[in-house]
Amino acid sequence: MADFDYDLFVIGAGSGGVRAARVAAAHGAKVAVAEEHRIGGTCVIRGCVPKKLLVYGSHFAEDLEDAENYGWSFENATFDWNRLRDHVLHDVDRLNGLYEKTLESHGVERIMERAVVEGPHRVKLASGREITAKYILVAVGGWPFVPQFEGSEHCITSNEVFHLDKLPKRLVIAGAGYIALEFAGIFNALGCHVTVVNRSAVILRGYDESLRDRLLQITMSRGIEYKFNCPFNKIEKREDGALDVHLEGQDPLIADQVLVATGRKPNTDGLGLASAGIELGEKGEIAVDEHGMTSCDSIYAVGDVTDRIQLTPVAIREGQAFADTVFGGKPTTVDYNCVPSAVFSQPPLAGVGLTEGEARNTYGNIRVYSSDFRPMKNVFAKRQERGLYKLICEEPTGKVLGLHMIGPDAPEILQAAAIAVKAGLTKADFDATVALHPSMAEELVLMR
Ligand code: NDP
Repeated sequence: MADFDYDLFVIGAGSGGVRAARVAAAHGAKVAVAEEHRIGGTCVIRGCVPKKLLVYGSHFAEDLEDAENYGWSFENATFDWNRLRDHVLHDVDRLNGLYEKTLESHGVERIMERAVVEGPHRVKLASGREITAKYILVAVGGWPFVPQFEGSEHCITSNEVFHLDKLPKRLVIAGAGYIALEFAGIFNALGCHVTVVNRSAVILRGYDESLRDRLLQITMSRGIEYKFNCPFNKIEKREDGALDVHLEGQDPLIADQVLVATGRKPNTDGLGLASAGIELGEKGEIAVDEHGMTSCDSIYAVGDVTDRIQLTPVAIREGQAFADTVFGGKPTTVDYNCVPSAVFSQPPLAGVGLTEGEARNTYGNIRVYSSDFRPMKNVFAKRQERGLYKLICEEPTGKVLGLHMIGPDAPEILQAAAIAVKAGLTKADFDATVALHPSMAEELVLMR
């Protein structure tokens, strides 16, 4: 060990890197982590956490509207974007501080500058300092991918959207994936006119088709506009700052902001990985084995930079598995089967396991149970929106292969039900559980 400055040098202090660093340190390793932005990474600083707070903040629009029928009146209710934005950013600072403390309390050294790989055991910091380590972990995450077209520099990404000076009256969103649909919901609820523009004819590719249709229908009725099969041609900025958005085969749109949410690419540009003989995939992702080891046996990678499942809890598990394997003497792999996920659109949707289409292709003989219901809360509020739950089962065993839900609180309910799906339970097991009445979740055990 004495031959190296550190046992482990982590590049990137996001969810995966921080978990790996602190667990490796707890196993007795001498660890340093380099970060060029802020400790916490995408999830904490410019992703899941601030986004969820904006979802909560914007949801009050619906709650206040529905409150009328519950006997409440709020005359002259007003909304202040700057107040919400600043509170959210303040909370990000709080969490950033907690992450810093976690590293500190585990004796992990923080180096707040960019580090690049210079060889199998060597990194170089932006300041010029060179450091050696027995192992290097690359956990640099991803970065928004912005397609290049004339005027694309006028667009913002999910990095900037949390810092807007004012709400855009007219917002155009490029892409129809997670980020697009979540921000469409937020800004629509806050009173902005939102147009979602996608290159293809689908939203949320990969999610169950019936849920996607339901989300499309509800969000259109809430005023979100969609334009499909529409690549961007160019964006022109007017003198007053407004943007003319030219789309292929469509009339131009006028926008105050254009948010690009067309996927994220691994953050490997200029990281020096070739110096250690590490080859990158088509999108710049690092290929790793089941323990996170790259083609160089002293360099590992976890999280979005490996472009497997781009979700925080997955990166955390990968970081933990790496540290337990390399420093804990306990070889551990991550099980990618039945990873639950959710889109915090309004209403939200969530799923675990196979979609109906995937199950049909894989198993052939399946049975689909569903519940298409109007939540009691919506009925009373005179809100027409319906929830939809689907259970996809193998025939004839009844084993649940997938569960998909759209409706209020769907992610909260799905997380609990995902345990049953992961455990391989059957439709009969679901039905054997007495309903908890009145709740939306009871639909899970009443599906026909
Ligand atoms: P997504 O992969 O979810 O969606 C990308 C969208 O952009 C799709 O509609 C896609 O179209 C379109 N697109 C892709 N490439 C191009 C291109 N070259 N030109 C034009 N359009 C393109 O990406 P996001 O950016 O929304 O999110 C990135 C990742 O972050 C997600 O995959 C997810 O893993 C993670 N995330 C998770 C969240 C959660 O767990 N709730 C929230 C936010 C992000 P098409 O439909 O044709 O493929």
